[in-house]
Amino acid sequence: MKKNFSCLCGANIQLDYREEIDIDGKKEYLDEIFNGTFMSVICPSCGKKHKPELKITITWKSKNLKMEVLAELERGEYYRRKKHNLSFQTVIGFPEMADRLAVIKDNLEPVAIETLKSFLLTKAAENYPENDINAWYHCCGAEGIEFHLDGIKPGEIAVMKIPRELYEKTLDDYKKHPKKEIFSSLRAGSYLSVQNLLRPDAFK
Ligand SMILES: [Zn+2]
Repeated sequence: MKKNFSCLCGANIQLDYREEIDIDGKKEYLDEIFNGTFMSVICPSCGKKHKPELKITITWKSKNLKMEVLAELERGEYYRRKKHNLSFQTVIGFPEMADRLAVIKDNLEPVAIETLKSFLLTKAAENYPENDINAWYHCCGAEGIEFHLDGIKPGEIAVMKIPRELYEKTLDDYKKHPKKEIFSSLRAGSYLSVQNLLRPDAFK
């Protein structure tokens, strides 16, 4: 579907809006999502890059994934939802979509990753109580799981590594006690995210 909108310079821009994508059918989508070119368009007139967030659905059958991606602007509306379709995983915003797909691609369990993020953010909040800090999954290797934190210093990313054993221990704990508060507090309906711990009272 083509979606038209106008640039600040007045030019008309046409975006290729892919409402439903199937990762198994086209692996290039993953590259586009990871390198930030997915559903982005450059104004032919002034060169400004536009990346409007629109609601999309992602299917990745070989990973048993059906995901709905909401725009950041729909966050409030999501929390007011009365019914949840639990056959879908929900993420909010394109950065979270890219983060979650990277976790799934690396065969990690999102609950354990979001729990580790909550550990990192709790620690960061103790040191920088005034800052609005976000943690993002980056990659995993032999030395551990790497996260990138933004918001500590303007324009800088803090790289944090968590040992693989802590990930395994967290995952094991989750499998034994899935209803434990540290795990259940990460969920709101079909939306699993450390953002659920950070949401303002207005969204509760
Ligand atoms: Zn323009």
